[in-house]
Order: sequence, then C-alpha cells, then structure tokens
Amino acid sequence: MAMDGDTRPNDLSAFWMPFTSNRQFKKNPRMFVSADRMHYTTADGRQVLDGTAGLWCCNAGHNRPKIVEAIQKQAAELDYAPAFQMGHPKAFELATKLVEMAPEPFTHAFYTNSGSEAVETALKIALAYHRVRGEGTRTRLIGRERGYHGVNFGGISVGGIVNNRKFFGSLLTGVDHLPHTHLPAVNSFTKGQPEHGVELADELERIVALHGAETIAAVIVEPMAGSTGVLMPPKGYLERLRAITEKHGILLIFDEVITGFGRLGSSFAAEHFGVMPDMITCAKGLTNGVIPMGAVLATSDIHDAFMQGPEEAIELFHGYTYSGNPIAAAAGLATLETYREEGLFERAAGLASYWGDGLHSLRDCPHVIDIRNMGLIGAIELEPIAGAPTKRAFSAFLKAYEKGILVRTTGDIIAMSPPLIIEKEHIDTLFGTLREVLNEIQ
Ligand code: PMP
Repeated sequence: MAMDGDTRPNDLSAFWMPFTSNRQFKKNPRMFVSADRMHYTTADGRQVLDGTAGLWCCNAGHNRPKIVEAIQKQAAELDYAPAFQMGHPKAFELATKLVEMAPEPFTHAFYTNSGSEAVETALKIALAYHRVRGEGTRTRLIGRERGYHGVNFGGISVGGIVNNRKFFGSLLTGVDHLPHTHLPAVNSFTKGQPEHGVELADELERIVALHGAETIAAVIVEPMAGSTGVLMPPKGYLERLRAITEKHGILLIFDEVITGFGRLGSSFAAEHFGVMPDMITCAKGLTNGVIPMGAVLATSDIHDAFMQGPEEAIELFHGYTYSGNPIAAAAGLATLETYREEGLFERAAGLASYWGDGLHSLRDCPHVIDIRNMGLIGAIELEPIAGAPTKRAFSAFLKAYEKGILVRTTGDIIAMSPPLIIEKEHIDTLFGTLREVLNEIQ
C-alpha cells in the first residue's frame, strides 16, 4: 500500500487500462474505493460528486440496497444457467418488464453483455432479417460520422470516430456514413434540439440513389450522440430519417446505450422524440451499470420474420455464454423496479430545465464556445488550445476531480450526465465548481 490512509496499491503495472493514457494515469492514479448514491469515495478518502453516473450508466445512483440485495440473493440461489437451449425465470421476467417499459412497437428483447455487443447483435439481426425474407442483397450498413457504437468491428465500422477506427485495418466493407449533425456556426448555445440541420438526413437519399435501396440493410444512429460530445438531433431530423428508411425498406436502429433508461426524461429517446425505429440497442442503465448487460429490443415484425420464416431461421445463430445471465437479470429487474418506484424518468424530465439553466449560466466563463443540453445530459465545448487539442478539457477534468466533482471529457468537450436521483443542491455544486474550474484553467 501507499502512504498512511491511502489504499491505492503500489504496483499498477499489470493492468492495461482501456481508453486511458496508461503512462499518465499511473504517475498520478485516480481511484474510487466506495460509492453511495451521488458520491464516490476516493482511495485517499475524499468525496467526489458523480456528475457522469459512472460512465453514463448508474442512473439510479450508487450502491442502491434493492439492487445489491437482488444480486446477493440471486448469486446464492442460481449463479449461472446455460444460455442456449435452457432458460431460467428471471431472464424471461426481465424481458417482459423491459418491453413493457419500452414504447409499444418493441415486443422482444435479445440479451447481450454490453452496448458494443448489442450493436453487433442488432447489425447481424438486420442482415439476417432481410435474408430470411428473401432480400439477401440488402447487406450494406449505414452509420454516421462522429457516431459511437462501441468498439467491436461492426460498431467501429458503422461508427464515425477517427481514433477508434484508424488503427484497426480495413474494417467491414459495404459501409457508408451520413454526415454528422454538429453545426456550430448556426446552432451554438442551443437548449434542447437545434433549429438547423434537418436537411442532413437527406444525405441518405443520396446514398440510396448511389447504391440502390435493394443493397441497403440498415441505418444505425444514436438519437442523441453521447460519446462524441453530446450532439442533439436537429428538429425534424430523426423524423426525416425514419421517413426515408421506411420508404426504401431499410431498417432503422437507434443506439440508445446512453439515452435509454430515463436520461432524456422518458424510458427511451424514441419515445422522447416520438420516432420509432425498428430496433433499439441498450445497456448501461439496464442494470444501473452494476453488472454487465445489454439488449436489443426488436419489433414483432423483426421477430416474426424469423419465427415465421424458413425452418433454418427459427434459431438465430448468435448469442453469448452470458446472454441473460441470472445475476445480471436479477440486477436488471431490481434496477427497473427502482426506476419505476422512485419515478426517476419523470424526475429527470422535471429537473431538465433547472439543469439546463444551470449549465447555460456558464456561458460567459473563459474558453467556452458552446453549451448544449437535453434531459439530464449536457456538454460544454471549450476552445481548443492551438496545437494541443483535448488538453484544455482534460485539464478541466483533472481540476474538477481535485475539487470534488466527476465530469467526463471527450475531445475539447466536457460532458455531464448525473444519476437521475440528483438534487438541485448537487446541480448547484456541480456547476458552481465547474465555474471555478473554468476560471482557473489555462
Ligand atoms: N453505443 C453507445 C451509443 C455508447 O455510448 C456506448 C458506450 N459509451 C456503446 C455503444 C458501447 O457500450 P459498451 O461500452 O457497454 O460496450
């Protein structure tokens, strides 16, 4: 161990950390050792207010007794059951609860262990769907620039984040990208959905004209793009994407790994925007981030195409050893119950304008070039330091952590997405501290 009272281990070398500058981190490690509701406790004994719900996932806050007890009980009762050709009650119960919570068209849930796997699963279901319906020429997939769809090969192929793609070879073939929807010249400092950019959806018509609709399987987008810096869909954009995909028989997939489970004030963003895709991917908030689990929600049209299709298609040749794992399912059930009992989605909707006002009050702080918000999510974009992009926002993250708040940065953007149990005093603390941070950084 390190110094007195500091529980950080001495040897940090063996753990190769994901999405982390390992050398930099290990010189000055930041570690959490416990958590309760809105706060983490660090290894050196400080309290840190969670402004990001972990990694956009602990929507009910931390260490909620109902979820902890459900996990303990399930682990002692049935630790594991084979996921293929066998079942256990909780996986079925959770699927029922999940589709009850989702908007009406979604009638079936296919389990995965993460958001990345949910994306791969949805893309594969889309391809297989067309094939079982006799439209096997539909193999092309369309993503969007700046889209984040996890880190597996399908996800980085349809995704549009350069650093996540460039080291990893030629990726999937037959993939096109829509333009991203970030238009700072006309949409900066927008509250909610920006006014401009609906026409960017028409790029899909161009792609269809280029390749032929009969070659295109699916379009995947985040209804509100999170990891790329919190980009709201322009007004009318998702509606237009839906209309064009429908017109051409192309499936529309919403990646709701971040927007699912109340972040925007309703169960899913599809409901918030009133636009129904054919599939929704989700994870994170499904189990409050406590146990890895994701899912693909599908309409009965998708599901029935397999069940009523050729005999060989009734079994989907896809799945994971841990699909619907009993402990994850128990955590999921307790999580959904917590959301419902505590009215957390309504709570997020009710706090959205207080949150938005607090966030936008930082508009006049140094370095700020844009602020955007919706539901309980928000972003502050900073002017990059010439020749050192990302550095300014990262120093804001470090200073914020020192001062006792957790935010997240992506590029030169500070992103925030607190647990939905947040109180107004926490919101004041979060933005009050950020004001100090922005005034102090270079
Ligand atoms: N899709 C979206 C929209 C995400 O935000 C994320 C994670 N941030 C993923 C997929 C990947 O999820 P995971 O990290 O659980 O694989």
